Amino acid sequence: MSLASLLDRAAAGGRLSFDEGVLLYNEADIHELGAAAHARRMGMHPRDVVTYVVDTTINYTNVCNVHCTFCAFFRPEHHKEGYTMSHDVVLERVKYAADQGATQIMIQGGVNPELGIEWFETLFDRVRREYPHVDIHSLSVSEIVGLAHVEGISTRDVLSRLKEAGMRSLPGAGAEILVERVRKRISARKVKPHEWLGVMREAQQLGMPTTATMMFGSIETHEERIEHMHVLRELQDETGGFTAFIPWYYVPFKTPLRGKESTGLEYLRVLAISRLYLDNFAHLQASWLTPGLKMGQLALFYGCDDMGGTILEERVVHDAGSTNEATRGDLENLIVSAGFKPVVRDTYWNQLPTS
Ligand code: SF4
Repeated sequence: MSLASLLDRAAAGGRLSFDEGVLLYNEADIHELGAAAHARRMGMHPRDVVTYVVDTTINYTNVCNVHCTFCAFFRPEHHKEGYTMSHDVVLERVKYAADQGATQIMIQGGVNPELGIEWFETLFDRVRREYPHVDIHSLSVSEIVGLAHVEGISTRDVLSRLKEAGMRSLPGAGAEILVERVRKRISARKVKPHEWLGVMREAQQLGMPTTATMMFGSIETHEERIEHMHVLRELQDETGGFTAFIPWYYVPFKTPLRGKESTGLEYLRVLAISRLYLDNFAHLQASWLTPGLKMGQLALFYGCDDMGGTILEERVVHDAGSTNEATRGDLENLIVSAGFKPVVRDTYWNQLPTS
């Protein structure tokens, strides 16, 4: 089949095989790939709406025993620069975000073995009681697995208890590239690909919506990027529990791994192939935090229908050298000037009335 016919088929919603995905990724003209992804996006979401969420990320601790080589944020246990916020400090940050209209908070940090599950249960319960209109979209598979080790209980039990305490959904962080070869090099102590997928499956079975991410641009090949999408597509076929896919690129400055930053065209190519390959994911998010807001705007023509969040105070990517941030006005301005209508959504992609 020619590249043009493959693109036509994928733009109309036809499923790509692994080999076809790799072929399009490597061979398709960037403009034609983008046009097919945009056609697919408009087919899935015909209205000219682009959504975003008002949220914040609170990095409650930088202490971590996983030591990923691509991470400039963590500090090992007992390091003098290690910190863990008190519950009161986290609650102050939640208040700040809630006062600005946030409907979602991402409380995420390192895998800190000093913190047991009761620390999180107490915190989430306070957030839920004091800010009932703010959804706790928090932690990551790594933190869930870390808590299971600390407590000597299963990851399913960790998720059940946190859900009981108020955690509403599980972000797809920590996926990086779900290929063993890559993880051995960049995050050898992190959960294995099948464990990441297994915890996601458990969260979805417990009724928690989840997202899926991909951190690309470290040491993986193009084939491994498609392999990552392939295992996500398989789980989505089984559970339907992912709301969105969020590919973002690695920021190499200040990290032990180092390397080169991805280019703008690489970013757009990944977005476009994601939109075409992940035919069972409803939403593709423009992860403007690393490539910047202007690339985030271009992403709206390469398959994305969502601009992500306002991310009022993120530290992990910031510490690796990214300085991008955005207000609601910034995001709306980008969306409007791209010819779309900005609409605020919640964690579950319900569109909210304009305030
Ligand atoms: S990426 Fe997360 S798990 Fe890995 S070292 Fe950084 S904080 Fe720890």
